[in-house]
Amino acid sequence: MNLSNYLAGQWIEGSGPGTPLVDPVTGDELARISSDGVDLKTALEFARAQGGPALRQLSYTQRADLLAKIGEMLSANRDEYFRLSLLNLGATQADASFDVDGALYTVKYYAKIGRALADGKMLKEGAAASLSKTGVFAGQHFLVPTKGAAVFINAFNFPAWGFCEKAAPALLSGVPVLVKPASPTAWVAHKMVEDVVKSAILPPGAISLVCGSARELLDHVREEDIVSFTGSADTAARIRTHSNVVHRSVRVNIEADSINSAILGPDCAPGSDLFDLLVKEVLKEITLKAGQKCTTIRRVFATRQTLKALGEAVSARLSATKVGNPRNSEVKVGPVVNKAQQSACLEGLKKLRSECSVVFGGNDHFEPVDADPQKSAFVQPTLLASNDGLASKYVHDVEVFGPVVTLVAYDSLKDLVPMVRRGSGSLVASVFSNDSSFLQEVILGLGDLHGRILAVDSSVGAQHTGHGNVVPSCLHGGPGRAGGGEELAGLRALLLYHRRFVVQGPANCIKELSGLSADTNLLYS
Ligand code: NAP
Repeated sequence: MNLSNYLAGQWIEGSGPGTPLVDPVTGDELARISSDGVDLKTALEFARAQGGPALRQLSYTQRADLLAKIGEMLSANRDEYFRLSLLNLGATQADASFDVDGALYTVKYYAKIGRALADGKMLKEGAAASLSKTGVFAGQHFLVPTKGAAVFINAFNFPAWGFCEKAAPALLSGVPVLVKPASPTAWVAHKMVEDVVKSAILPPGAISLVCGSARELLDHVREEDIVSFTGSADTAARIRTHSNVVHRSVRVNIEADSINSAILGPDCAPGSDLFDLLVKEVLKEITLKAGQKCTTIRRVFATRQTLKALGEAVSARLSATKVGNPRNSEVKVGPVVNKAQQSACLEGLKKLRSECSVVFGGNDHFEPVDADPQKSAFVQPTLLASNDGLASKYVHDVEVFGPVVTLVAYDSLKDLVPMVRRGSGSLVASVFSNDSSFLQEVILGLGDLHGRILAVDSSVGAQHTGHGNVVPSCLHGGPGRAGGGEELAGLRALLLYHRRFVVQGPANCIKELSGLSADTNLLYS
């Protein structure tokens, strides 16, 4: 079976043999994709010329209504996305839910909050500034939806959520979207786009799909387009420095890789509620999606005295966790996404092991449940420990994109904060402590190099939203190595798809334009 591209309002198959999509448990080929020979330039022109104007004829509220319809329609097809997640990603029910339900929730969330923008055509920012003695001439800042297209280049680990969390704010802004899912796991996104197209909820040109390589797509982006990328730091660098992107100053948002941290405060002795909560969180992070989340905890910092007990507690849980074919209902950890990822994980693990001890796992030849190790792509959940984090080279640098976590010993805030900062910019750090001054010092010490800090004390207990869980009302993204991008954060996400400009002109004209606009204060409420 070949999965087609959807470009300029048509389903088009690429030429050539294409790239196989493979079941990571059985190694069976599922389908093929190819974007070879399809006309990417015309697809972008069609989106700008047809999709954009049709979307922007509508108000924010009307576009929020379209999102609500899309949310309902996708929810009705949820079972099929779960089925494809199992086939194409080897996803357990929990893994599929994290991606698919996260996607559906995000679309519905934007449908709901988008209505607050009422009937505006653009957004008014702040009050008018008088620029003349009599007040007849004034200046007013506005944010206007860009007349380009939004190009989404996504990572393999979140085919559903990656598509929806980007598409919802873009469509709400009135900007048509062109989605390019990562090749190895394109099926779920393909099916979702197919369902959106079939439903005819969106006007022609509002959504396009490239299923296969991005080829020379970036040669065709223009000043008014947006490129929003999620993936590895290496590809991010290529996109950021692409000559056409640089030449035209195309707006680029990058979500890249990240060596995230969790920190257990010195006050949290083994057996305390926060110690147990952290153990639970680490277990969730290693096992969910087999550690293939951009937000997954990669390093856990605990005091030198606590490290051993922490290792034992996590290992005890891991040893009772079944890893293998997710079709077996006892299995809690599935495979990584393909053989290439398995090799990359094992290579990274080798580097980490060169400077860490193995607390649990680390067997390259372990036997998954109900799966052939030769054909499948499993990585054994592995817990490592480092007693000399300050001297470590790889622990703060190598992202093993799989079920691998390293415990790192610290002595005080003096070595803790510099070690965490060696992640060079991360999506998230979480800190578990009942010592409010410790929490404050950590937050102040790390805030500038992190997109999100999750602080948990006993008053919060199990009510926190989770280290790895991205909620659409809060910021997702991180500085430095994490790419420097910003996504979600409620209506603030719309900023990426709008351009700020100022009108300096007659006060009456500004008043009329203001009447057509919703207030940007709503973005921050
Ligand atoms: P990747 O290899 O960088 O690929 C990401 C996307 O870029 C894919 O769609 C890929 O297409 C495309 N691509 C590759 N080369 C390109 C080029 N020269 N021009 C345009 N597009 C190009 O990353 P991945 O292996 O899919 O994803 C894993 C990484 O993503 C991890 O490092 C993870 O931390 C990161 N990630 C970050 C976030 C976040 O929000 N920060 C979320 C999820 C994942 P093909 O597949 O067709 O090659």
